[in-house]
Amino acid sequence: MAQDYYRVLGVERGASPDEIKRAFRRLAKEYHPDAHQGDKKEAERKFRKIAEAYEVLSDPQKRAQYDRFGHAGPDQGFDFGPGDFRRTREAFGEFFGGRGFEDLWSMFFGEGVRTRERRGRAQRGEDLEYRVRITLEDAAFGAKLRATAARHASCERCRGSGLAPGTKLVTCPTCKGRGQIEYRQGSMFGMFVNVRACPECGGAGERAESPCPACGGHGRVREKAEITIEVPAGVEDGARLRLAGQGNAGVAGGPPGDLYVTVEIQPHPVFRRRGQDLEVELPVHYGTLALGGTVKVPTLDGQADLKIPAGTDPDAVLTLPGQGLPRGRRRGDLLVRLKVVVPKKLSRQQKKLLEELTTSLPPTELPAR
Ligand SMILES: [Zn+2]
Ligand SMILES: [Zn+2]
Repeated sequence: MAQDYYRVLGVERGASPDEIKRAFRRLAKEYHPDAHQGDKKEAERKFRKIAEAYEVLSDPQKRAQYDRFGHAGPDQGFDFGPGDFRRTREAFGEFFGGRGFEDLWSMFFGEGVRTRERRGRAQRGEDLEYRVRITLEDAAFGAKLRATAARHASCERCRGSGLAPGTKLVTCPTCKGRGQIEYRQGSMFGMFVNVRACPECGGAGERAESPCPACGGHGRVREKAEITIEVPAGVEDGARLRLAGQGNAGVAGGPPGDLYVTVEIQPHPVFRRRGQDLEVELPVHYGTLALGGTVKVPTLDGQADLKIPAGTDPDAVLTLPGQGLPRGRRRGDLLVRLKVVVPKKLSRQQKKLLEELTTSLPPTELPAR
């Protein structure tokens, strides 16, 4: 069973980002292998737990997902590989920065410095967000929609590396390979040193000797991609579907992002949705209610027969079971709201018949006072 991330960091559920960062630093210091007196392996295991908790709780989106779904989120929880602890590494570096940081880091995560350099350039592609408007019929029975998505694809010429053919990566001249630039800033409290990612290499510490002419060294080109969106039967309005790996291509060998599609269901001219049930208004004659009979009702699939019992009230709602929207193997019902039609134009013959009927019926009773 995965441990509660808040408990791992020893913070309240409502803790601010600052409190979370402070808790992480305090614990990281405590489990620092040089300072830790106990079992080193245990300290290392513990540190991984702390890093994992920090990685999730320091990212507003991941944190919100964790708060809602816990470890078993819609993406089957959080899966961490050695290269995933980006924010942890940043916070860790700020704290233990300088010499020995890489040694310490690789001690915890078994990442060599060389692999880190390559990972530094590699970046996961961005997630993309799209909206689709679908009909109620598509929402009910599911649909395969084809759409065009504008996204970044990996450049074919350089296979995403951003390097011109036959050239290689060189150390970034601006930051001299460190990936960071220090800005010194004077203030009334004294001199401050701000460390920022190098703008030339984006923090990677190296850049293309000669950029690929096809993509300008970005490793990616814009494309209009045909995508297929599988809308599951019974989808809710506002549902967000995830198309794994269909977002922007990664940079320099990084994995692609995901594509999210928010489903919007168009209002239907005939049916209204009530959760799993559908509602339809059906005009009927007074006589049908009084005498009973069978009438045709529109359904999502076509038509169905509806039995109206004799003596049905004009505001009755009748149910056609199994004609609603599917959820799992079951289908909801179709609720038929009756609406009595009062004829506006009557022939002489019809008038006569209605008069005969009305006079033959006992007078209506006044409501008792
Ligand atoms: Zn640089
Ligand atoms: Zn290229």
